[in-house]
Amino acid sequence: MANAPVQRMSQLLVKTLRDDPADAEVLSHKLLVRAGYVRRTAAGLWSWLPLGRKVLANVERVVREEMDAIGAQEVLLPALLPREPYDATGRWDEYGGELFRLKDRKGGDYLLGPTHEEIFTLLVKDQASSYKDLPVILYQIQNKYRDEARPRAGILRGREFLMKDSYSFDLADEGLDRSYALHREAYQRIFQRLGLDYRICAATAGAMGGSRSEEFLAPAEAGEDVFADCPNCDFAANTEAVTYEPQPVDGSAVPALEEIPTPDTPTIETLAAALGVPAAATLKNLLVKVDGEIVAVGVPGDREVDMDKVEAHFAPAVVELVTAEDFAGRADLVRGYVGPQGLGEKVTYIADPRVAPGTSWITGANKEHTHARNVVAGRDFEVDAYVDVVVVQEGDPCPKCGAALRLDRAIEIGHIFQLGRKYADALKLDVLGHNGKPVRVTMGSYGVGVSRAVAALAEQTADEQGLCWPREIAPADVHVVAAGKALQTEVALDVAGKLAAAGVRVLVDDRSGVSPGVKFTDAELIGVPQILVAGRRSGEGVLELKDRRTGEREELTVEEAVARLTA
Ligand code: ATP
Ligand code: MG
Repeated sequence: MANAPVQRMSQLLVKTLRDDPADAEVLSHKLLVRAGYVRRTAAGLWSWLPLGRKVLANVERVVREEMDAIGAQEVLLPALLPREPYDATGRWDEYGGELFRLKDRKGGDYLLGPTHEEIFTLLVKDQASSYKDLPVILYQIQNKYRDEARPRAGILRGREFLMKDSYSFDLADEGLDRSYALHREAYQRIFQRLGLDYRICAATAGAMGGSRSEEFLAPAEAGEDVFADCPNCDFAANTEAVTYEPQPVDGSAVPALEEIPTPDTPTIETLAAALGVPAAATLKNLLVKVDGEIVAVGVPGDREVDMDKVEAHFAPAVVELVTAEDFAGRADLVRGYVGPQGLGEKVTYIADPRVAPGTSWITGANKEHTHARNVVAGRDFEVDAYVDVVVVQEGDPCPKCGAALRLDRAIEIGHIFQLGRKYADALKLDVLGHNGKPVRVTMGSYGVGVSRAVAALAEQTADEQGLCWPREIAPADVHVVAAGKALQTEVALDVAGKLAAAGVRVLVDDRSGVSPGVKFTDAELIGVPQILVAGRRSGEGVLELKDRRTGEREELTVEEAVARLTA
C-alpha cells in the first residue's frame, strides 16, 4: 500500500466554526459545516472540502468494493440526458416538479438524470442480443439531480447528490430474484462496513403488480421517514406495509343483535360517551365510491382509515369519497348510522382484520338516531374482503411476534426494487432466447444514497463534542495534535512521519498561533477516531493517546504509539 502523505492542518483547506450555521436544522448539517467538511453553495447544492471529500470517497470505495464483489460492472453514463427515452416511459411528465428540464442551443429538450432506468435499458438493448449476454448487473456512482421541494436537511436531501444506482437484467423471474438477493446481501455488507445501524423494511406492496421492494432505513431523529419497528424481533416495515391476518374468535355466546335509540350521537365520540363504552367497541363505516360503485369500509371506531391504503387496494380503480347526492334515494344508506348488517346487496363491504369473524360491535342500525349492539361479524353481516386500511399506531402488535410496535424516524439510505418488465416493455428490450425467439427482459433497480450515507452516519455517531467516525470512513486514522511549543510540534511531526511510513493515515495539527484548547476542541469536532497529543511530556518522548469515542486516555512512547496504531 502506498503511504498517504501526512495531512497538515497548517496547510489544509479547513476553517472550523464555533457556531452552528443559522439555516441548519439537523445535527449532521450543523456538524459537517462546523467541522469544515462541506460548504453550502446554494439551496440543496453542496461543495465537499478536503476532509469531506475523503469521507465521501471512503463511502464510495466500500460501495464499489461490495458491488464489484457481486459481479456488478461499473460504468459511467452522462448525467445530462435527452428527453426521448423519458417520453417513451412517461416519466418526462410524471416526474413533475422534481425533474430538472433544460434546453440546448438548438432548442432540444434535455434533463438532468434523477435516476437512470431508461438509459440503462437502452444501453443493454444496444449491447445485449442473446440470452448469452444475460444476466448482467451494471452500476454507476454519479451525481443525481432532483429539484426537491424542501432541500432543508443539508446533505441528507440535496438537489444534487451522489448515488450508486444499479440495474439488473435477467431473462426470467428466478434470475431477477437472484439479482435482487445479491443486491440485498451486498447492501447488508455495505451498511455493516459503514458502521450504520439500519433496518430492512418492506416497502408498500400495493399497486405495482406484486413486485418486491425493500428500503434500508437508518434510524435517526433527523429522518423524514416513519417506520414500524419491533423492539423484540427483526420485523420492520413502512407503516403502509404493516399487514395483519384476521384472528377469528368464538362469538356464539353473544346475545342477539339489539337496536338501541341513540339520539344526538352523530359521531363516534358522542356515541361512545352516551353509551359509556370505549370507541374501540364501536364499528365505524366509511363510504367511498370505487369507479362509481359504493363500497363501505369498516374499522374500529378508535382507528383512522388510511386512504392511501384504500387507494392502493383498489388501484387502478379510482377511489372517491361519497357526497350527499350518493345518499339520495338509498334507504340502506342512512348518513351517520350506517351498519354493515343492513347494507344493500350491491354494496361491497371491506373491513380491517380487527373486524374478524366472531367479533361483536356497536354500530349504526341503518335508521336515524338508532344504533345496534351485539352485531357479530359472520353472523349479522358478511365481510367481502379483509384489507389493512387503518393507520398504524405506536403500540399495535407486531405482525410477526406480537410485541408492541414502535414508530421510529429514519433516514432512507438504500432502496432495492424489482421493476419487472415495465421499462423493458416501454423501450422494447428483448434478447434472443434459447429457442431463438425474442424474450422480454426483466429488470431490477437498486440505489444507495452515497452522500446521504455520510450524513446518516454523522447523525448516528456524533456526540456533543462533534463528529465521530468509524475508522474505515474517517478522513484519517489518527489526528496528531501538537500542543503548541516548538519541541511539541517537532515531536508531533516526527511521530506523524513514522505513522505515515507505517501506512497509517495521519492528520497533524501543526498550526502555530492556535491555542492547545482550540486544537483539542477542533480534534473532537473533526472526529478522527484516535487523537494523539504531543503535550507536556514530549521532551521525554511520551505522548497521550485518546480514543475519540470513549474518551479513554493513555500515555505511550512514540514507538508504542506507532505499534498500537498500526496493529
Ligand atoms: P426519499 O423518499 O428520501 O426522497 P427516494 O425514494 O426518492 O428517497 P430513491 O429514488 O429510491 O429515493 O433513490 C435511491 C437513494 O438515493 C435513496 O434511498 C436515498 O438514499 C438517496 N436519495 C434520494 N433522494 C436524495 C436526495 N434528495 N439527497 C440525497 N440522497 C437522496
Ligand atoms: Mg425522493
